[in-house]
Amino acid sequence: MLSIDTIYIDGRFVTPHGTEPFDLHDPATGAVTGRVRLADEEDARAAIAAAKRAFPTFSRTGKAERIVLLHRMADAVAERRGDLLDAVIDEYGAPVSRAAFMVDYPVNVLHEAAELLADYPFLRRMGTAEVSMEPLGVAGLITPWNSNAGFICGKLATAIAAGCTAVIKPSEMSARQTQIVTEALHAAGLPPGLFNIVTGRGDRVGAAITGHPDIAKISFTGSTATGKAILRAAADTLKRVTLELGGKSPTILLDDADLSRAIPLAVSAAFMNSGQACIAGTRLLAPRSRLAEIEALAKAAVEAVCAGDPRDPATTVGPMVSRTQWERVQRYIRIGVEEGAVLLAGGEGRPEGTEGWFVRPTLFTAVRNDMTIAREEIFGPVLSIIPYEDEEEAVAIANDTIYGLQAYVLSADTARARRVADRIVAGRVLINSLAHDPKAPFGGFKQSGIGREYGSFGLDAFLEPKTLLGEGV
Ligand code: NAD
Repeated sequence: MLSIDTIYIDGRFVTPHGTEPFDLHDPATGAVTGRVRLADEEDARAAIAAAKRAFPTFSRTGKAERIVLLHRMADAVAERRGDLLDAVIDEYGAPVSRAAFMVDYPVNVLHEAAELLADYPFLRRMGTAEVSMEPLGVAGLITPWNSNAGFICGKLATAIAAGCTAVIKPSEMSARQTQIVTEALHAAGLPPGLFNIVTGRGDRVGAAITGHPDIAKISFTGSTATGKAILRAAADTLKRVTLELGGKSPTILLDDADLSRAIPLAVSAAFMNSGQACIAGTRLLAPRSRLAEIEALAKAAVEAVCAGDPRDPATTVGPMVSRTQWERVQRYIRIGVEEGAVLLAGGEGRPEGTEGWFVRPTLFTAVRNDMTIAREEIFGPVLSIIPYEDEEEAVAIANDTIYGLQAYVLSADTARARRVADRIVAGRVLINSLAHDPKAPFGGFKQSGIGREYGSFGLDAFLEPKTLLGEGV
């Protein structure tokens, strides 16, 4: 039984003032595997004070010093690869086939930030003025459970590159990943107070951070509902806010697509990270002229998806992270049936031979875009085929959503796919691909968020331009 009873403040592992216990589960069985002692508001305040003390010195460090720190952090996290791999599999059921990406990503993102920093122009001449990009201050970094180590390292890397200090509030559900990352970063020997990690509840520790006057910036990844609460809380002190929120991404299958390639790609886009991905392509827009063919191939592909033991290399869909999440997915499948969608594969219940929080990879067809399952983020392996008549209608359906995080266009004609991609309102559009580029900005239009992460846009978001004019400039 794992017991995690420390948080990290001012360069030390300390016992939290908070005493509330929180159980960790193995999602593959539902069994309790550990217990975390959660931090409270007082711990959040202590962490903020430590980050505030560290800021004046750290904000004056130069590029070279920060680049060395970032590489050192990356190397330290890389050393814990094996532990992190076990943690992501055991803690939220990441299939081993996916887990490798999940544990390499935090390392890569730290190296990427160092590379970005090397070329970033902090001083710029604009007209007769000199503009310097100044670090904002103490950053509050709040992360979800679905890629906890990656989000902690990604946000912290950018904060450090900018010269900010940080208080990190990871999801309470991923305390084991947090513990490993914290130990690694501690071993990297960063200055005390530069980063602080307080695992606690969102409505307590998260809220204490978003409301605190000494926090200058919030970078949040999580649900749209929580993002809105954070934006409201941050308004009082006019914090700078970056929000990476939910999605309901369309996959637009054009009528000329090679289905033998397009269908597996569409299913992978929908079910990545067991469907627990903000960028999951959960609305498959299919031309009515080829609907029967698409339905048959998609049904076969979904039925062939291996859902079960996350340690089996063949598995691509593991369990849901929690009982709550499992129940939520079941409810959406039920609603889909009640609202008249046609079930082609999966459905309510568990895949045969599993216990724990497994759901059946599910495919609906005859879905209309006004149905609940086409409008709301399910965050599980549920794919909805939405038929369309022509390209015009496909674009209209794709954009008829409150979200705008990511979209996929699949076609044999890349010029045509490009024309469609140009009309999609989303932060990222992928053509015949599931690619990721850490140098390019990532983030959402509309209610998928505010601002961008990664690359120079991501770094800009931790900085404030300051203009100098007049004599001697
Ligand atoms: P969540 O919003 O429930 O929680 C995210 C974090 O916010 C957690 O650390 C939580 O404790 C904290 N929190 C909760 N209430 C808070 C409050 N009032 N003030 C401050 N912090 C608070 O999300 P989740 O269930 O952990 O993650 C799943 C969601 O995250 C999905 O909606 C998914 O789409 C989204 N997500 C978005 C991206 C992206 O980059 N756009 C990436 C991954 C996940």
